[in-house]
Amino acid sequence: MSASAHRFFRFFGNSAAEDSDEAEPAPATDAAHPGAPAAPFTAIDRANERLMHEIAEFLVSTRLAVTTRNLFIAHAAFNGDDPQLAREIGRRRLAGETITQEWLDTQTATEDREGAIRTLVGQLESSIDRFAQTATQARTSTADCNAALKSTVDRAMHTPESLSLPDVLGLAQSILDHSHKLEANIRASENEAKTLRERLARAQHDAEIDHLTGLPNRRSFEAVFDREYREAQTEIDHLCVAFCDIDHFKLVNDNHGHETGDRVIQAVAETLDRLSSKKCHVARHGGEEFVLLFRGLTKAQAREKLDALRENFSERRFVNRKTDDPIGRITFSGGVADVFAYPNPRDALRAADEALYLAKEQGRNAVMAAP
Ligand code: GH3
Ligand code: MG
Ligand code: MG
Repeated sequence: MSASAHRFFRFFGNSAAEDSDEAEPAPATDAAHPGAPAAPFTAIDRANERLMHEIAEFLVSTRLAVTTRNLFIAHAAFNGDDPQLAREIGRRRLAGETITQEWLDTQTATEDREGAIRTLVGQLESSIDRFAQTATQARTSTADCNAALKSTVDRAMHTPESLSLPDVLGLAQSILDHSHKLEANIRASENEAKTLRERLARAQHDAEIDHLTGLPNRRSFEAVFDREYREAQTEIDHLCVAFCDIDHFKLVNDNHGHETGDRVIQAVAETLDRLSSKKCHVARHGGEEFVLLFRGLTKAQAREKLDALRENFSERRFVNRKTDDPIGRITFSGGVADVFAYPNPRDALRAADEALYLAKEQGRNAVMAAP
């Protein structure tokens, strides 16, 4: 545990400093009965303590602000609710890369959208309830009208003299009122359905598209990857996956600001998107990382294609639009893996990621094939 995390636990008087070389803390006491020895720790208590420890260690060592959102994100990562984020954090730490608020925000943007979708689903459910109510009302009032009509017709058949014109007109008027009310309810339901359908379509689009680049996002890519994997397997076709990462991108942010950094990400996205076709899917995986899926190409062919694009892109010179300061050359590196050389898509993606890091190690601005 880091020294700062130790400080955090000392502040809370917590005994979770497992690797502490400090003196053993005094035995814990029961908060409800100060002075009385605490009940023995259960497995749940220990798991809670471990979770608290991990969350605190994460926030303190990364120097992220202790906000409700960050606590919530860290909680999801360390209690197993968000294994993907936990893996990304682990990978980043292992590679010695810093975990910044920006990075965490891009990783969790999908979850925000999921929250919006959950809200929409809630609204859809109440709408469906309202439609069901309208339908029930329609059925009941139609049945009422039918019953009133039937009794009037019966009376007209058996005792026509007992039926007056005002009776018949009154009945006709009440049937008309019912039908107008129903019509209004149904029209309101139709309008509500139309609005919800539009919002749902927008939410579906938002859930699959990355806002900065307009490319499909990681979630959407995963679905495409699964589909292509199954199809290519059935058709015995080639399938390759590639991982790309902008080189020294942090320097662009540091030297020219985040907005320029965003435009650089957009420029790389536009370039990679040129490969997009029915047989090639391009997506933003997160941050300055992109993934590509090549159908019908061997690993060597896919690498060659991506490498040609890389070379072309590396010849461009960028200028900061706001200040006219030269940014210079922007390059990216890539790694390509043959999907069917691995037991599953996830392992293939990891192999492409490893090949990418090989390219980084060997000086960047290169595309390597996984061994
Ligand atoms: P390397 O060549 O090893 O990949 O170095 P790097 O500097 O590109 O990699 P590093 O992972 O250290 O830095 C990536 C940076 O990308 C850090 C993060 O703040 C920034 N970043 C992530 N997402 C975005 C984004 O959407 N916009 C901007 N402007 N920056 C982002
Ligand atoms: Mg990166
Ligand atoms: Mg990078």
